[in-house]
Amino acid sequence: MFNRQSNRSKNKSELSVNTWNTPVEYIKGVGPAKADLLKKELGIHTLGDLLEDYPTRYVDRTQITPINHIRTGDGYVQLRGKLIQLEMVGEKKSRRLMGVLKDSSGEIEMIWFQSIKILESILQVGQDYLVFGKVNSFRNILNITHPEMELANTPSPISKGWVPVYRSTAKLDKKYLDSKGRRPLIFEALKMFKDSQPLDPLPVYLREKYKLTDQLSTFYNIHFPRGESHQKQAERRIKYEEFFYLQLDLIRQMTFRKGASKGFVLEKVGDQFSSFFQKHLPFQLTEAQKKVLKEIRQDTRNGKQMNRLLQGDVGSGKTIIGFMTMLLAIDNGYQACLMAPTEILARQHLASLQDFAKNLGLSIELLTGSIKGKSRKVILDRLALGELAILVGTHALIEDTVIFKQLGMVIIDEQHRFGVAQRAKLWAKSKPFLPHVLVMTATPIPRTLHMTLYGDLDVSVIDELPPGRKPIITKRITAYSRPNLYQFISQEIEKGKQVYVVYPLIEESEKLDLASLMEGYDEMSKVFPAPKFKLSIVHGKMPQEQKDSEMERFAKGITQILVATTVIEVGVNVPNASIMVIENSERFGLSQLHQLRGRVGRGSDQSYCFLMAGHKVSKEASFKMNTMVETNDGFKIAEADLSLRGPGTIDGTQQSGIIELKLASISEDGNILTAARNDAKSIIAEDPNFLQPQYSGLKEILIKKYGKGKIWAKIS
Ligand code: ADP
Ligand code: MG
Repeated sequence: MFNRQSNRSKNKSELSVNTWNTPVEYIKGVGPAKADLLKKELGIHTLGDLLEDYPTRYVDRTQITPINHIRTGDGYVQLRGKLIQLEMVGEKKSRRLMGVLKDSSGEIEMIWFQSIKILESILQVGQDYLVFGKVNSFRNILNITHPEMELANTPSPISKGWVPVYRSTAKLDKKYLDSKGRRPLIFEALKMFKDSQPLDPLPVYLREKYKLTDQLSTFYNIHFPRGESHQKQAERRIKYEEFFYLQLDLIRQMTFRKGASKGFVLEKVGDQFSSFFQKHLPFQLTEAQKKVLKEIRQDTRNGKQMNRLLQGDVGSGKTIIGFMTMLLAIDNGYQACLMAPTEILARQHLASLQDFAKNLGLSIELLTGSIKGKSRKVILDRLALGELAILVGTHALIEDTVIFKQLGMVIIDEQHRFGVAQRAKLWAKSKPFLPHVLVMTATPIPRTLHMTLYGDLDVSVIDELPPGRKPIITKRITAYSRPNLYQFISQEIEKGKQVYVVYPLIEESEKLDLASLMEGYDEMSKVFPAPKFKLSIVHGKMPQEQKDSEMERFAKGITQILVATTVIEVGVNVPNASIMVIENSERFGLSQLHQLRGRVGRGSDQSYCFLMAGHKVSKEASFKMNTMVETNDGFKIAEADLSLRGPGTIDGTQQSGIIELKLASISEDGNILTAARNDAKSIIAEDPNFLQPQYSGLKEILIKKYGKGKIWAKIS
């Protein structure tokens, strides 16, 4: 008896999984050609994908407008009346079908240009129709072009209430896969899903707690709501679910790692660390830096693998923490590596680390994509033999050919550009345990985004800048101020300071952008002529050696002005530079501006940032620049940025698929996120393997969503 019961529920859940994954071509009305288009144009492969492609908006079909109330500019209207006339008019190309609809208040013309033969045969004069379409006016006479027609006495459920409008493309429109064409398919998919008796993944107690509708009604109400309140209810559940499943995954991963994932024990504070700390520190560490070091020390000696995010605003001194963390590993017989998002930054890090390590006799090497052939082989051999203590590099570090003798510590700088998958690849490089991981990010992350992106990491914060730093003075200027600006720059250079001038460069307008960079460089060369002044130039299209030598000349103070693209955005550290000029600053994102500004103000002298832009800029650009002028606080800037752009566009997050949120918004739905996170926490604490029957639906959906990850494979 009991067996039977459990068998039945198992079948039920298998049924729903299978239905969810049904290829779209099996949905009635789709077929191979349409399926192909749905895949290519929208990435919709399965029935589930189709159901999760939510409407972008709705049009209200709860109202019927009397014909004589229609006015130009009404947009979409719904009418109800008798078709009193229908005829083909015009010749050849201008041939069209014309109809007249009449209700008790008046008459209106309707015109169709496509599929007119079929329409002519279907539509029947004398019948009552529900008509839905957009109001047009042609020579001051109102008409409705290409309305949707339905017999008034048997309207289908998909044209009642709020009617969904879906994203579409020209190709889809042409093949009748626009909103109108997709609605019946989605309706069909919903029927199939319903027939599979899906198991609602959300436990009953959570649905009751937040008064959420069940899964099936939610799908019906998001696609075919009877009105606004139904739609909003469905939306609320979907937002909650999006956050909830993501949090379950993150928290489970974190718990799993903490509980089961053993790590190398970095037992002792050894010679290198002690020697550096006692004799060779270039400056006194701030209290915040010391606190973070303690947290890291704690993390790496307890036998568990460390997974820590080190967050600190630009210039707060993360590099030295990364270095000392590596020393901890080295002192215990392990190798360490540091991964950076760009080649320039990797080289900068190499230089800083070599400088810190100059009295320690450590072997540190660089590995990037541009290091090839023999020199690459030498590095890889030495790495495998354990002769290298530290390897610094770019993405090149995660290639399969990079083999460490004993990797114990991974430092990742500027995390927001790396995805979770890339982190995981680095883990695979060490045995028998995962290496300790310290992720350093200068992009302050608002709490909500943080929970979503890095919910699986522990967090340390450097919330204090080294002493003596002065807030950077930021000004918004236009071309009229150039003469003053140049005069100011030359004064600063006289005082021994250095200057960055940054130009935007994006792929779409690369040629133009490069040209304006070169123009800018030429102008600066004229205004600041040799031999009194010397300039460097750096952009992505230059050969690596040339980039390096230009950078180096600037870093060493041989040149005073560096004209560059955003290649210098992150990490570059030339403390003597005190002026940052950002050309066309309206074209940069807010966090990018903050990163760029962070290149100055790294010493104790007053620094300046000039945001050059035209007189007329968009509201958004104005908001960006004003925010920059008003505050130096990276956290405030990140919040402003998030409010402006939404999280999907934050560097790398969308492309790497870290966040998959369709309706939920990190900046607006913080409350839902917090609730979902707390619920996820208590479930994982209580039943991490979802053994209770009430969680079987959850288990199913999580395997479906994240099943490819190791941790989920284990419980499936
Ligand atoms: P970020 O956190 O942006 O990576 P860096 O590690 O590059 O910052 O540090 C910025 C600058 O501040 C560097 O020149 C670094 O040597 C210096 N610095 C770091 N910590 C301190 C400190 N405690 N006291 C003085 N200067 C420091
Ligand atoms: Mg840095």
